Amino acid sequence: MHFLVQTKPFPDEALESYLLRLARNNSYHGYSELADILWQWLAEQDHELEGALPLELNKVDVYHARQASSFRIRALKLVAQLADVNAGDILELACRRSNFKFGNLAAVSRNELTIPLELLRTENIPVCIECLSESSYIPFYWHLKPYKACHKHKTQLTTQCGECHNLIDYRASEALLECGCSCKLTCSEQLNDADFKIASALVSNNSQKIAGLISWFAKVKQLDVGDADFNRAFVDYFSTWPDGFTAELDLLTNNARLKQLNPLNKTKLNSVYADLIRDAQRAATSNRKNIVLDEIINYFVELVDSNPKSKHPNIADLLLCTFDTAVLLNTTTEQVYRLHQEGFLNCAYPQKKHEQLRADSHVFYLRQVFELQQAFAAERPQTKKQFIAPW
Ligand SMILES: [Zn+2]
Ligand SMILES: [Zn+2]
Repeated sequence: MHFLVQTKPFPDEALESYLLRLARNNSYHGYSELADILWQWLAEQDHELEGALPLELNKVDVYHARQASSFRIRALKLVAQLADVNAGDILELACRRSNFKFGNLAAVSRNELTIPLELLRTENIPVCIECLSESSYIPFYWHLKPYKACHKHKTQLTTQCGECHNLIDYRASEALLECGCSCKLTCSEQLNDADFKIASALVSNNSQKIAGLISWFAKVKQLDVGDADFNRAFVDYFSTWPDGFTAELDLLTNNARLKQLNPLNKTKLNSVYADLIRDAQRAATSNRKNIVLDEIINYFVELVDSNPKSKHPNIADLLLCTFDTAVLLNTTTEQVYRLHQEGFLNCAYPQKKHEQLRADSHVFYLRQVFELQQAFAAERPQTKKQFIAPW
């Protein structure tokens, strides 16, 4: 078996788009017909590969395969052989699961870009009509939820069919410029300049900087990245970073002072700042930078400095759990236990013999953790690093 018409992938093409073009160029009705034939052929070559390529286009990307992803890769290499193209060029189109995590969020990687899995579109893939008129393929960034306007043509992507109003998904319709109802797609929406800014940032070298930030912002503001005004809110918030964030933290600090029921040295940090530190982990970049966490550390360092230890417990005496302590010290919970055993961190309560500290037990003083943090991270610049928004 061999494909007669060679189909080269575009470097920024989505894997689904490539397989659809491969099928069409070789006169198959669509991907599903091709997949049916490939299913048989793969099973004959290597019985482990039976079912390694799904029959639905929207399940074909490597990250869907989970445990079977190595078989999916092997199957794609065979497809590359049939198509007479370099296997590496096809594998580069795939999104794979990554070992990196944005806090508790799973991540996927495609070439240099690592993003939270939750930022991939699942239900629909909007399109730029002008791009498709120039070349008939779907770039992978149309699969990203925050990418809502075309950075090349400065137009909003088309999300809905003008006729039947269904959401557009080329993986379901197996057509690029037509809706499933066979109507031609048209563009009518006005350009949203925040969408354009985010789209440009996502395709630039700065994409790493904002992928985690987008997930963090959606979580803490309880917004849906798919909402029409999400990018506007995001751009506005980060244009004045970190002022809005600091003001929010100040408000929580003042509320704690006013409304305290227990002495502050018996109050958990979480009951004042909620999941601030846990959530901040989402804002990570795959090269381990995190501007939200940096800002939180700056904030608490200043809070400790301006609330020195005194007879009466103050806001800098709040209690941290082991997990948050590990995040702030940029280490593991096991290391925090060691710091405790070796006397670097005191426990707020007398411990019973052989008592194990749990990750969620609030036993360390905010003050001491930050004194330790400063002692260990002496190379951290004392002046605030300026965050420059990538748009
Ligand atoms: Zn375009
Ligand atoms: Zn339609």
